Amino acid sequence: MTTRACSQIAGLNQVIIVRRSLERGNRERVIGTFLERLEVLKAAEDVLLRMEKSGYFDDVDLESFRTTIVGFLREPATNLLGLCSYSRTHRNAKSPGERTWRILLNRNLLYTERHELHATIYHEFLHGILGYDEGHGERFNRFESLWPL
Ligand SMILES: [Zn+2]
Repeated sequence: MTTRACSQIAGLNQVIIVRRSLERGNRERVIGTFLERLEVLKAAEDVLLRMEKSGYFDDVDLESFRTTIVGFLREPATNLLGLCSYSRTHRNAKSPGERTWRILLNRNLLYTERHELHATIYHEFLHGILGYDEGHGERFNRFESLWPL
């Protein structure tokens, strides 16, 4: 499994790469309540609908994302807002959903960082679409700047 970790620092639009090891440590796994899980899944569906409507992703199998695991980052959380983990077979994947093992989100996106919830999910979907090697490259930034769709 390969991880592309990323964080947006509110207000600065600055993107930093956080090594996977920082995400481990002694921090607790977070499942989230039914309502918290429903909220992030509804937000993910909303982002997909907006991507479908936009016309920018007509050649992308967005439907394949609808079975992607969406969960929460371990806590206490850092300023990392989300991360996209790639599947073992990501290099040969035929769709973004197959390429993406799971997307983990900071639970603060439902509370103090609520204004970043949809943008963060969009950001992680873009990693799933563009793949590991693109990272936060030029193409990635061009697509990211389309938000809000
Ligand atoms: Zn990123």
